[in-house]
Order: sequence, then C-alpha cells, then structure tokens
Amino acid sequence: MNPLRVAVVGAGGRMGRMVLGQVLGTPGLALAAALDRPDSPHLGQDAGALAGLSPCGVPLGADLAAGVAGAQVAIEFSAPAVLMALCPAAAAHGCALVVGTTALDATPGVRQALGDAARRVPVVESANMSLGVNLLLGLLGKVAAALPHFDLDIIEVHHNQKKDAPSGTALAMARALRQGRGGDAAIGLHSLRGGDVVGEHTACFFGPGERIEITHRATSREIFARGAVRAAQWAVGRVPGAYDMQDVLGLRG
Ligand code: NAD
Repeated sequence: MNPLRVAVVGAGGRMGRMVLGQVLGTPGLALAAALDRPDSPHLGQDAGALAGLSPCGVPLGADLAAGVAGAQVAIEFSAPAVLMALCPAAAAHGCALVVGTTALDATPGVRQALGDAARRVPVVESANMSLGVNLLLGLLGKVAAALPHFDLDIIEVHHNQKKDAPSGTALAMARALRQGRGGDAAIGLHSLRGGDVVGEHTACFFGPGERIEITHRATSREIFARGAVRAAQWAVGRVPGAYDMQDVLGLRG
C-alpha cells in the first residue's frame, strides 16, 4: 500500500518538530512537506534533523500551496493567521486538515475560512489532541449535572511562552461544564503561566463540606503530536466536514 502523504505546517516550532518526529517514525506515513514561515531561521534545514532524527531528504520550505498540493493531509500547529492561506490551499488540492493551533476566535475570518474548507475536505480541529483530555471533557458534563449546586472553577497552568490565556482546553472544559448544567453556569477560569509546564488542567467542584478536583497533567508534548497523527490517519478518506477529537477517538454521544 502507498504511504499516506503528510504535510506538517509550523514544522520549525515546538509542536511542529514533535509532529515531524511522529510522522517520520510511524509506519505507513510519508513526510510530503515540512513548512514554516518565509523568514524562519530554519528554512532549508532537513526536517529529520529538525526533529532530532537522521536526515530524511525533506527540507523545511515556506510554500504552503505547493506543500499541500503534494499531500493528502496537512497537520498544522502554527498561528491562527496561517489558516487564512492554508484553508483555501488545502481545499483546492483536496488535502484534509488537522488544525492544532489555539485561540482561533481572536483572529477575524479564521472560523469562516475553516468552515469554507470543511465544505470541501475533512477538517479536524481540537485545542487539545490528547486522549486523556478528550476523555475528561466527556466526564465533566456528567459530574456538573450530578452536582447542580456545586460551584465550578477551572485552573490551568502552562509554560511561560504560551500566548493565549485561558487555554483553549480550559475554554472547552468550561463549555462541557455548562452543557452539563443545561447551558447556564457561572464558572471561574484561572490561568497560571510559568517555567516549562507542558499543560495542567483542573476542574474543581466546590460543595458544602466537600470538594472534587479532576486533573489532567500533560508531561510531554508527544501526546498532542500522537493525537494529531491519529487524527490525520482518521481524516483521510472521510466525507468533507468539521470534526474534532471526540469524533476521531469515537467518544461522541
Ligand atoms: P511555536 O511558536 O513553538 O511554533 C509555531 C511555529 O509556527 C513556528 O515555527 C513559527 O515560525 C510557525 N509559523 C508562524 N507563522 C507562520 C506562517 N505564516 N507560516 C508557516 N509557519 C508559521 O508554538 P507551539 O508551542 O508549537 O504552538 C503552536 C500552536 O499550537 C499554538 O497555538 C499552541 O497553543 C497550539 N498547541 C495546540 C495543542 C493541541 O493539542 N491542539 C497542543 C500544544 C500546542
């Protein structure tokens, strides 16, 4: 069988390098392109070396359209504005999209671009690609519904380079809690930034005389990269549409 051709966008970044490593190390996948911004200091470097592996013969490039033209699926962890160019290019070439970048709502036009692309290709978007967090999201609504009088708070902790606060995962947790309460609930959101914390999210349920805390701790970015690769394998061949990790992991419903 021919290997699945995968393009990686934001390939010079923290997540991008992890994804490169996963793509190069997963049987049945071939790296079709490694892409970053035109002024990236890593342009021209071998993608294998960027991932800390042996050279693979694919240099880091900056031509998004050419990159997705040769790929069946593009995995993206970069910046919201990148999607304004990536979405139409992927749609035009029939290339499925896995979107990992967070804080998409803060950039006008990005949601529209994603929606337009999802009419023509499968688009998987998730602010957190880990299996554990997606299981947690399913759980939170049930706990919030079972404890209708408990106060709800979310605490998230991330490294000091993270640009958005609260995290996309914290916002998804708040949505899950609100859904559990029938759409209406006051939820405190608290963000801490420091050091090299990969990502910690705690949902707190405060009741009279007792409290429940449910925490997810990510100790390695590998979990997001592995999830993104799983999403890419799942997406290719699906009907066009907007999907998330609940679909990929079969957790919906
Ligand atoms: P980073 O800053 O280390 O990497 C971003 C990369 O994107 C850089 O190499 C940068 O040069 C590149 N880039 C920027 N503009 C570009 C452009 N116009 N064209 C091509 N490449 C461009 O950031 P990171 O830590 O890798 O995080 C990237 C995104 O992924 C953030 O939004 C972060 O919140 C998100 N993230 C999501 C998950 C998830 O599971 N969904 C997990 C971790 C991080």
